[in-house]
Amino acid sequence: MDIHTNIPLKNYTTMKLGGNARFIADILKPEDVPPLLDKASQQSLPVAILGGGSNTIVRDEGYDGIVLRIRIPGITTISEELNSVTIKIGAGELWDNVVAYAVDLRLSGIEAMSAIPGTAGAAPVQNVGAYGQEIADTLVSLEAYDTEARTFVTLMNEDCRFSYRNSIFRDDAKGRYVITSITLQLSKNLPSPPFYDALQRYLDEHNITAYTHQAIRDAVIAIRKDKLPDPTERPNTGSFFKNAIIESWQLPDIQAIDPDVPYYDMGDGRYKIPTGWLIEKVGLKGKLLHGMRVHEKNALVLINESAGSYADLAEAREEITTAVRAMFRIEISQEPLELPS
Ligand SMILES: Cc1cc2nc3c(=O)[nH]c(=O)nc-3n(C[C@H](O)[C@H](O)[C@H](O)COP(=O)(O)OP(=O)(O)OC[C@H]3O[C@@H](n4cnc5c(N)ncnc54)[C@H](O)[C@@H]3O)c2cc1C
Repeated sequence: MDIHTNIPLKNYTTMKLGGNARFIADILKPEDVPPLLDKASQQSLPVAILGGGSNTIVRDEGYDGIVLRIRIPGITTISEELNSVTIKIGAGELWDNVVAYAVDLRLSGIEAMSAIPGTAGAAPVQNVGAYGQEIADTLVSLEAYDTEARTFVTLMNEDCRFSYRNSIFRDDAKGRYVITSITLQLSKNLPSPPFYDALQRYLDEHNITAYTHQAIRDAVIAIRKDKLPDPTERPNTGSFFKNAIIESWQLPDIQAIDPDVPYYDMGDGRYKIPTGWLIEKVGLKGKLLHGMRVHEKNALVLINESAGSYADLAEAREEITTAVRAMFRIEISQEPLELPS
């Protein structure tokens, strides 16, 4: 196993910002994890985990420890039931390859999550989701190395405590588990409506009535291509902010500020408000702030156009959150996690 020294982390993250890692090591199989953690604790070095770096922001000071880059490969069918198939995926597989694999086998459950960048192992961390599907819907279990108990464990879906863009891996168990594989149960049925509004609209506009797995995947890829900047051309982390969640009693106050505010009932006394709409309303859509462009088509996305450092990004973030707070009294929060946390 190779350990590299003093490596610029901006080369390993899609926002292309921030300092160097003191050490970086590629994890190609689960058994690589324990000896590296032993080495780190012998040298009193902290350990961070990285997949494809598409939801990670690196600060300018870099990381004075060991970054484990998870590259464990493999997709295998482990069982077939009457209406479903269960597959196990190495944490380092690219998520979109997993979706393509499922679609090729005509299995449904993740096709609407086509073209999300990053690795399979990172997908449970923020309960990735798009166009009405999230990984919590199909994940049966995952295998991980528990850095506290110093042993491999299996966590079942309910152990992960999934919620909107969240799980224990971003919350009270942050940094504790190195996920080495995930297991998904996918349906043998065709994708079926109701589909997410934007997806249904695209299908209708293109007269697509045969809802095959491939048709849904192609539609999602086309919608995303139009709406989201390609991180290889315009560095970004997808949605930079989470959508705002408010309590029901807050809604009338916000409607008094702007009666057109869009909101989605979450069914638990709370409402979700699109943060992109809030940013647009404060007049920042398309603006360049400290080298960070608020995306012209989707104000939730920040693009690193000419920012030289994390400090530039932090200033842009501050301007945006302050403007939204001043107008709507809503606190918006960042989606990508930071290194060091
Ligand atoms: C253009 C674009 C579009 C996007 N669209 C979406 C979208 O539609 N929906 C959505 O949910 N997200 C979206 N994202 C965000 C991102 O793709 C996902 O969060 C993805 O799961 C991140 O994967 P990654 O491997 O790049 O994670 P990284 O950025 O490498 O890691 C993210 C976090 O997970 C932890 N982590 C990574 N791997 C492991 C592991 N094996 N074990 C334990 N912890 C781990 C890291 O420590 C870090 O805290 C988008 C990003 C971009 C750039």
